[in-house]
Amino acid sequence: MIRVGVNGYGTIGRRVADAVKKQGDMELAGVTKTKPDYKSMVAEKKGIPVYAVDMKSLEAFRAAGASVRGTLNDLLQRVDVMVDAAPEDTGAAYKPVYQQASVKTIFQGGAGDMLAEASFVAQCNFDEAKGKRTVQVVSCNTTALCRVISAVDKGVGVARARAVLARRATDPDDVKRGPIDAVVPDPTTLPSHHGPDVQQVLKGLNIVTMAFKVPTTHMHLHSLILSLKKQGARREDVLAALEAAPRTQMVDGKSGFKSTAAIIDFARDMGRPRNDVYEATVWRDSVTVVDGEAYMFVAVDQEAIVVPENIDAIRAVHGGYTKEQSMALTDASLGIAHR
Ligand code: NAD
Repeated sequence: MIRVGVNGYGTIGRRVADAVKKQGDMELAGVTKTKPDYKSMVAEKKGIPVYAVDMKSLEAFRAAGASVRGTLNDLLQRVDVMVDAAPEDTGAAYKPVYQQASVKTIFQGGAGDMLAEASFVAQCNFDEAKGKRTVQVVSCNTTALCRVISAVDKGVGVARARAVLARRATDPDDVKRGPIDAVVPDPTTLPSHHGPDVQQVLKGLNIVTMAFKVPTTHMHLHSLILSLKKQGARREDVLAALEAAPRTQMVDGKSGFKSTAAIIDFARDMGRPRNDVYEATVWRDSVTVVDGEAYMFVAVDQEAIVVPENIDAIRAVHGGYTKEQSMALTDASLGIAHR
């Protein structure tokens, strides 16, 4: 069993913790919380050991009479791999703490630049992460771009990628940053960081991206334009490449998928935990080829898409699995159609 801890029990941390519990080859040793609240109460109800992030927070747990097993340092003694899902930009401060405990670490995309030895998207570069001490699962948008672009590249070759990202303003439970009443260039200077982030995984890809925030909390939407290498490539060739791609689902407007809300509603109806959509979602009817360029809309559930990548990254750094073995186990446990 791979013993896993999760530091930071928010949007990503709670999902990764639940996903770890579903793996037959992993044991969730515990999660950290800064303070006792309903999230720590739910963790306790689920039988997840809760640790305080530091001594001050330990005292807060004890003062509230809440169940707590110790601090992050105690949890670090009980794990093989720590998933860092703490707030953005705390990764640099935590990295030496994990290193001192000799614990392998999975960082998230927002944890800081160039924190880890490898950036990670399972289907693109699982082997690069094998045996590494630190791996960074790239952001939600970067994960989706890597999945879709690498799939089309495999089928018909991609010479150049251009993407315009409409980003959700914030997550549904975040009352501090949204909803906003504006469309916000994010950032106003171009290009955005997503292109270079993709190049950390798909090395050498010619890609330029731009992004803006919109007043919604559910899902990002990418407008993607790919210049195809294969002479005379048709829409059917691009569709075939996408249909064969792992962790990518195809939907149609005529089946009622008229918006990102419908995709979340579908996940809700299918009984996905928290309505999570782990797959990059491509509108089949949007896929169009004009003058050697493929156009498409792709929707990204920012809260969920990186969950399977975190599980595969744990196996990659731990060792003993091929990409195919790990992705098959992860997909089966999360109810993702496996290809
Ligand atoms: P979040 O704010 O929902 O969760 C972070 C959790 O960490 C909170 O519960 C917070 O109380 C706790 N915390 C605060 N200070 C802490 C500390 N010092 N040590 C440990 N825990 C602490 O954040 P999130 O959205 O889950 O983001 C976590 C990481 O995942 C970030 O790097 C983010 O960029 C990345 N990410 C987020 C999304 C997304 O859309 N939410 C998508 C992909 C990647």
